[in-house]
Amino acid sequence: MTTRLPTRFQTVQLHIGIDDTDSTKGGCTTYIAARLVEKLTSLGGVRFTDYPNIIRLNPNIPYKTRGNAAVALRVEIQRTLYDVVQETALDEIETGSHIGQKGTDPAVVILMGHPTPEIKQFSRKALCDVLSERDAVKLVRSSGASAAAYGTELGLVGALAAVGQTLTQDHTFELIAYRRKENCGSPRQVDEASVVRMDKMTSPQTFNNYDYENKRMLIAPHGPDPVLFGIRGENAEIVTEAFRMVEVREPVERWAVFRTNHGTDAHLRVLTENSEVKPNRPAVLRGVVSGRPNRIPGGHVFFDLSAIGRTFTCAAYEPTGQFRETIANLLLGDVVTVYGGVRESAKGRSVTINLEKILIHQLVDKVRIENPTCPVCGKRLKSAGRRQGYRCEKCSLKMPDSTKRTTTEMRPIGTGLYVPTPKAHRHLTKPLCRYGQEKVWDHHPAIGRWHRP
Ligand SMILES: [Zn+2]
Repeated sequence: MTTRLPTRFQTVQLHIGIDDTDSTKGGCTTYIAARLVEKLTSLGGVRFTDYPNIIRLNPNIPYKTRGNAAVALRVEIQRTLYDVVQETALDEIETGSHIGQKGTDPAVVILMGHPTPEIKQFSRKALCDVLSERDAVKLVRSSGASAAAYGTELGLVGALAAVGQTLTQDHTFELIAYRRKENCGSPRQVDEASVVRMDKMTSPQTFNNYDYENKRMLIAPHGPDPVLFGIRGENAEIVTEAFRMVEVREPVERWAVFRTNHGTDAHLRVLTENSEVKPNRPAVLRGVVSGRPNRIPGGHVFFDLSAIGRTFTCAAYEPTGQFRETIANLLLGDVVTVYGGVRESAKGRSVTINLEKILIHQLVDKVRIENPTCPVCGKRLKSAGRRQGYRCEKCSLKMPDSTKRTTTEMRPIGTGLYVPTPKAHRHLTKPLCRYGQEKVWDHHPAIGRWHRP
């Protein structure tokens, strides 16, 4: 005979997914998550089985607000606390969201137990595809999760995707510090020199702190949202250490460490000859440069790539900075792999890929063909007419048997991976310094001091 534990000692696993609480006028889904962390912790009987997760979804979707981020909290709770936890979550979303703002459709999904294979599959698709709220609603119902949506049900897509994306593969951490409400909207008082020092001390264990090409802090956003700054890195300890090195001249209202898919390239997918090439999806293509790079007014650089039996236009936009110089120096015949997103293109026009990075495999020789020079005076010879060799315009020397000279020029670019300046990065783009740091997650709960309050 087995003895059953009284209900109050039974625990259940909960996954709480939240999405789309922010508008362009401010707010931030991660802030709501950070406040919920505090409230759930203070309930007692709630144990976090992971750091709160920030899940970035398909960055090629045009209707996203800032970065298309959803959040998931994963907790183990006493069964009797379920109603209180649900109420607390809904209450926080209702008070913290910009409900009623155009394009803000907050949603929360609460799943008891662990995400099913169907939900995991949904999450994988949400990274690189365009999903409908109908798909989300159906899956929420069939999985027995509870959900709430305000406005349209569009937020359910991200909320459910966050529940299912448990970041078992490569992941990074971000410590986010938040401002007091009364300071939101005013310039952030973060000391730039201290950020550079912190970067020098902790990089590459932290990344995207400072853009040296543009002399710009990357940790602090510029909008009216409550984020004071965020530090990204390889583990919770290093981002906490880095946080203490940053000097600020305004109070930090709260901070929390999140586990994320930032900087992991989780959104990229390789296209093959059988792939359907659709707008707003990622594209990784290996091919041959088949059209010369061409710079247009505004500083954008385009070139044609022949891959999987078709021709694609590849675009490096102005904000990608020096990256465009690499692109502009490609020659016909160079073999490359491009990484980016498929842009919506006009009917009949070739498909355009917005470049996120490029790997150059092979460079053709750049050959220059020239007339020979005069052996007497050194001047470049002129053609003396068809099949009549060359003559010198300066000293009149004739060289009927001379032929053109070919020289191989140095290419200004080499083989290897090129990634734009971090300022132009997408949240999901893996920066150069992360190559070789990829890791898996072995499911241990959040440890040490990872949030305050
Ligand atoms: Zn001469």
